[in-house]
Amino acid sequence: MSQGGHVVILGAGHAGGTAAALLRQYGHEGPITLVGDEPIAPYQRPPLSKAWLKGEADAGALALKPLEFYAEAGIDFRPGVRANRITRGPKTVALSDGATLTYDQLILATGARAIALPIPGADLQGVLFLRTAADAEALKAAVGPGKRLAVVGGGYIGLEVAASGRALGAEVVVLEREDRILARVACKVLSDFFQGYHQQHGVAFELGCSVTGFEGEGGRITGVRLADGRVIACDAAVVGVGAHPNDELANDCGLETARGVVVDLDARSVSDPNVFAIGDVAHRPMPIYGERMFRMESVPNALEQAKQAASAITGRPRPPGECPWQWSDQYDLKLQIAGYAFDVDEVLVRGDPTSGKFAVFHLAGNQVQSVEAINAPPEFMMGKQLILNRKPVDKAKLADPAVSMKEVVAQG
Ligand code: FAD
Repeated sequence: MSQGGHVVILGAGHAGGTAAALLRQYGHEGPITLVGDEPIAPYQRPPLSKAWLKGEADAGALALKPLEFYAEAGIDFRPGVRANRITRGPKTVALSDGATLTYDQLILATGARAIALPIPGADLQGVLFLRTAADAEALKAAVGPGKRLAVVGGGYIGLEVAASGRALGAEVVVLEREDRILARVACKVLSDFFQGYHQQHGVAFELGCSVTGFEGEGGRITGVRLADGRVIACDAAVVGVGAHPNDELANDCGLETARGVVVDLDARSVSDPNVFAIGDVAHRPMPIYGERMFRMESVPNALEQAKQAASAITGRPRPPGECPWQWSDQYDLKLQIAGYAFDVDEVLVRGDPTSGKFAVFHLAGNQVQSVEAINAPPEFMMGKQLILNRKPVDKAKLADPAVSMKEVVAQG
């Protein structure tokens, strides 16, 4: 494949920033333009709800690469500029600063945005989200000793914010629509464990509750109204109810989308060989789970797809498929999750949850489909291997923490 074409990357986040760097690393010699609507160089989002929010990491530590890297690598990085329209015939992109770019290959890396709640009071000051560094600044200013923080949504980001809020001395209440936290993403064992751990750290929970509005005075939030009529008083609320892919540009230019841009194993759009989509905005295949397609919101997914697109554009062999995984840090707990719990007929707990160190394996027959590991790196690492290799396991050994994970994998 030609090494000289102009690659335009829309979205300068984890996936876009990584793809730009990999293209150069893989020998792409042509121009690369990286367009991002945020004012700063590509950065990592995970610390925004964790170390950075707690004040344990500075802004510089968030950046994927120092700003100088882009100029030195011959990457034309355009911060603070939004891509407004793609026209696929002439292969052009219209930008918010009036410029038009012409591409040979286009990579969509526009990520996702936090979902807003269409309820009264949603525009009050103090109703916050957490997607960008700017959002994190606003949240950091709102949490502190004695401040009352309501977290709407008991998913990973909401719980991380709750843990960081407690570390900063705030009073925290988590409001969750389902009857357990993490209901969409984790098993009940894990939900119960995390709820108990948060309660020990002083977080209050309202489960099975529906938020119907935000109350305010003088334009500022004073409370969150629930469907049962109660108002939970607070100084700030952070809404963490999921994210929506920024796939409108793709949709508008006729690329196939399905809550995300539909791509193949090279991260190439199924509608146009010159367009790729990577990271949170992509709807992608994952052969270890058959014909199913996925939109994932994780750093490992952004990195894997950046590798796929950069490899395809530079004519390198397709990188081997990876096992999907992600993590969450809350208090002194490191949760690592690999795989998806599809077609599961057995859930096996290895270790004692009360010890704060255990793993939950989800099995289909004697194959591991997914693992959720708390402070248990060997279970996570070896579990990942088992998921990827589709190797049958001896369940009795897997359930016995006295048998090492190495042995479980070796004997299978
Ligand atoms: P993003 O990083 O969101 O980048 C997309 C960029 O494109 C953004 O800068 C956006 O503003 C820009 N953009 C959008 N539209 C346009 C346009 N039209 N023109 C120009 N630019 C545009 N993942 C984990 O694996 N582990 C974690 O612990 C974890 N914690 C997280 C904590 C928080 C608070 C958040 C928000 C996310 C977390 N994630 C975590 C998810 C992870 O950060 C994302 O999966 C990853 O950032 C996806 O990378 P991306 O490049 O696809 O999207």
